[in-house]
Amino acid sequence: MEQEKKTQGEQLAEELLLNRKNIGMKNDEAAEKAAQDFCEPYKMFLDRCKTEREAVSYIIELAEKAGFRPFDPAASYQPGDRVYRNNRGKALLLATFGTRPISDGVRIMASHIDSPRLDLKPNPLYEEAQLALFKTHYYGGIKKYQWGALPLALHGVIVKKDGQTVTVALGEGEDDPVFCVTDLLPHLATDQMKRPLSQGLKGEELNVLIGCRPFKDDKVSEKVKLNIIRLLNEKYGMKEEDFLSAELTMVPAFGARDVGLDRSMIGSYGHDDRVCAYTSLMAALEAEHPAYTTITVFADKEETGSDGNTGLNSLYLKYFVKDLAALSGVSGHAVLSRSTCLSADVNAAFDPTFGDTLEKRNCAYLNYGMVVTQYTGSGGKYGTSQASAEFMAWVRRIMDDAQVSWQTGELGKVDQGGGGTVAKYVAALDVDVVDVGVPVLSMHSPFEIVSKNDVYSAYQAFKAYALAD
Ligand code: MN
Ligand code: MN
Repeated sequence: MEQEKKTQGEQLAEELLLNRKNIGMKNDEAAEKAAQDFCEPYKMFLDRCKTEREAVSYIIELAEKAGFRPFDPAASYQPGDRVYRNNRGKALLLATFGTRPISDGVRIMASHIDSPRLDLKPNPLYEEAQLALFKTHYYGGIKKYQWGALPLALHGVIVKKDGQTVTVALGEGEDDPVFCVTDLLPHLATDQMKRPLSQGLKGEELNVLIGCRPFKDDKVSEKVKLNIIRLLNEKYGMKEEDFLSAELTMVPAFGARDVGLDRSMIGSYGHDDRVCAYTSLMAALEAEHPAYTTITVFADKEETGSDGNTGLNSLYLKYFVKDLAALSGVSGHAVLSRSTCLSADVNAAFDPTFGDTLEKRNCAYLNYGMVVTQYTGSGGKYGTSQASAEFMAWVRRIMDDAQVSWQTGELGKVDQGGGGTVAKYVAALDVDVVDVGVPVLSMHSPFEIVSKNDVYSAYQAFKAYALAD
């Protein structure tokens, strides 16, 4: 059949106008199949890594299989050699040595592996009205009302006074018990329903129900609490005071699931930011012979502002680069000043139900590929590191050359709110940084949603970046 000739206007529009396409309209069935397949192990990753500690252990397991070994500053390394540095079991750095000298700079991909959740307080366990409960202090930005009447699992570690560490993951197995923050029945919620949404459940109401069976002994008080401690002692060898040196947290007890009749999406706890952790990890594992040395960062504490020695507002990335540079007798800052970074984090996807919070011409959409966000911040770009036009041009070229589906995003309408990522902390090291990631619906809720095509685009983007000359 003869192709109909394009009009002058159609031709001009094709040549001059920005034309982003829904990945589903690209008629690339092989790519969509690849995206479906790519997401199967990603769902397993989500289920296995609900805390930063679990993510670090699992990533090390995968990295070691791909040839990564603990970094030894006294050793000598060749291009293609692979090392890692474990920061306190809660953050992790991977590096693959490139063929170019490290003085040419490194390629950094930095995501975070902590997610919003309910942390147990130092003295969590109490009994009231013959119910045993845990007091919690929420971690990160949550809408507290979303965490009531939801099955929760207990994850974390208990470190005994003698240094012995006990790992806890209870509520994940089919037969495991789960836990729950109770909410008020609507019949009696007349006053509660008048509260502003931010106080639908208040911080001190996020109490987790953990038991109601008393220990059968009339001589003791708080029999339910005693029975719970007895069970914890049986299971984990702990006493009440061991809570003082524990990191225990409540996370949603369910696993990742396909969403939609077309199975085009994944619903799960913790896509933010394990979706970027996983996709950058896969790219890093597969980029065996990069030209530039690649560093993949899995950071902790992003959800609470990146402070603390496992957050990226600490110097551990700088020290790592310094140690790598020292192998070649180069200074750390000489390397950092010539380095680039993809700050890998999720962005808000357009949600038609709440369409007026995003600016339609500049926000990200599900199924349009990886989002490049030039700046985040709020209130007049406050608290962001904006990528330069030069660096944006370079990123555009890398993505387009590798035929990665990508789009741009902004975090909400002007003056609607906003937020930040680790980008500004990496930029503070004199590195060129831009935010990239996957668009998410219901971000920070117990059940976040991403599109499988977007997950795959992010992986392709990280791989293109890691391997670009
Ligand atoms: Mn994030
Ligand atoms: Mn977040």
